[in-house]
Amino acid sequence: MNKSSSIRAARRRERKHDPRPALIRRKRAIGHAEERRIDSLMTALRPLLQRLAETKKRAAKLGVFAEERELLACPKCGLEEDVAMGGFLLVTSPADRHHDTGLRFKMVKRRPGFWRCPACGAEFQEPSPKAV
Ligand SMILES: [Zn+2]
Repeated sequence: MNKSSSIRAARRRERKHDPRPALIRRKRAIGHAEERRIDSLMTALRPLLQRLAETKKRAAKLGVFAEERELLACPKCGLEEDVAMGGFLLVTSPADRHHDTGLRFKMVKRRPGFWRCPACGAEFQEPSPKAV
């Protein structure tokens, strides 16, 4: 057995007994490939997410309910939100649940999670999300 073959035999024995360095190298390679894949997905997603946010803003301006929160109902006077065909937000009074009053609940800036009723001025907490 010459010197180089004995070194190769020693390396084989070493790898057989301690496979960690090769495993770590493999995990790192997989990690880098995964990071590059995620980076490329994020690069592709970023403009789509931006368009989605813009579309949601435009839809909200047109009166479409974005369903990012629960529908509101005033516990004092009964004014409540509803969603009509086409996803349009309606705010109806207890006297007439079929027609939009044109009123809209406003967020209370100094109390996060609270809303003000445009009819009676009552402030109430936003309902917690319903389990799906
Ligand atoms: Zn009210």
